[in-house]
Amino acid sequence: MGFSGVVFSLLVSMSAQLPAAELSVEAVEKLPAVQRATEFFVRESEWILQQQIRLTSIPAPPFHEEERARYLEEQFRAVGLEQVRRDGIGNVLGERPGLDPDHLVLVSAHIDTVFPPQTEIEVRKEGDRWVGPGIADNGAGLAALLALARALEESRLHTEATLLFVANVGEEGEGNLRGMQALFSDGALRRRVRAAIAVDGSNAERLTAKALSSKRFEIIIRGPGGHSWADFGLPNPIQALARAITRMTAAPIPTQPRTALNIGQIEGGTAVNAIPYQASLKVDIRSEMESEIERLESALRTAVAEAVAEENTWARTPGGPLEAEVKVIGQRPGGELPPTARIIEVFRAVDNHLGIKTSIQRSSTDANVPISLGIEAVAVGGGGRSGASHSLREWYDPAGREVGLKRILLVLVVLAGVEE
Ligand SMILES: [Zn+2]
Repeated sequence: MGFSGVVFSLLVSMSAQLPAAELSVEAVEKLPAVQRATEFFVRESEWILQQQIRLTSIPAPPFHEEERARYLEEQFRAVGLEQVRRDGIGNVLGERPGLDPDHLVLVSAHIDTVFPPQTEIEVRKEGDRWVGPGIADNGAGLAALLALARALEESRLHTEATLLFVANVGEEGEGNLRGMQALFSDGALRRRVRAAIAVDGSNAERLTAKALSSKRFEIIIRGPGGHSWADFGLPNPIQALARAITRMTAAPIPTQPRTALNIGQIEGGTAVNAIPYQASLKVDIRSEMESEIERLESALRTAVAEAVAEENTWARTPGGPLEAEVKVIGQRPGGELPPTARIIEVFRAVDNHLGIKTSIQRSSTDANVPISLGIEAVAVGGGGRSGASHSLREWYDPAGREVGLKRILLVLVVLAGVEE
């Protein structure tokens, strides 16, 4: 009875021509169950904060998210999600069944942090801020996931599409979006996903609707190695890397489309009086345009081949030439939603309604995976404010978090349709 999701869907899909989306958001907001859910965010702000602190305190270094995943699995059950399970790669899934099991709206947050296993994790309060590595990225996102699930449960808010909650592994660094990639490799699930929202960090203005694609490489150069005096004249892997760096950094990097090439790590050699037998470096290439990444990849491969050839020519002592290996250590698919995408329209309408100034951004997030598959997806913040992300000084201020949560809730309800 009452409002049906179809009505809202129609209103919102017409919003490209009409300002009707705002009306539908207003109508959704007035539903008693939606009101109860938004009140929950204020009333239970302390519970949400305590969940965030608890989650942040459980280490989740890259490729070792198990302990935090176990806690999330428990909490998914405690907040009333159904079919709670862990998939093969370590993602935690839970559902809030809708009337229509053939359609899913996905809301996710990544479990992993950038901090290595030995990192001392202690969350402490400094003024209005909570400080600790990972408190916002992605303590805020994971807390938002639990807050949304519990708010929906306690307000008895039911949607037409099923809501799929996922705490996923492998978003950061060399995790290479493996959690999302695994989730969307399931064709049956992929076909049911109508829209996807990844909650990452804080900041309720952010709307990442453009996926920055990137490709990462490790270049390893190997040679015979030897004594700095007795074997002088053997080809030197560090010298070859230096020659490669000189060439790579000479390649033109356009500002339009915005593109970046970063040499982020370099290793090699054993002693000052030894000719190294190995040297390696890691390179990160990103661009707004896939073809630029391909162009720079081929420039990189040429640079390495020429550098090694040059070093082998320079060498004057027999003992074997240098050899190079170029390994792809990461690849994130890119893409962009059309400006008329429904999920963007809905966010704009909700933001208008809440007085939030939407800022559409391009970045590399879990939303890259669905966007690259043509599924409407965005990444957004979970509310509140934060800074010093990826550092030991990372901080989070929960003031205003309820606005960020209400924003996601309204979008979820409009996208999934509502049954009151
Ligand atoms: Zn993050």
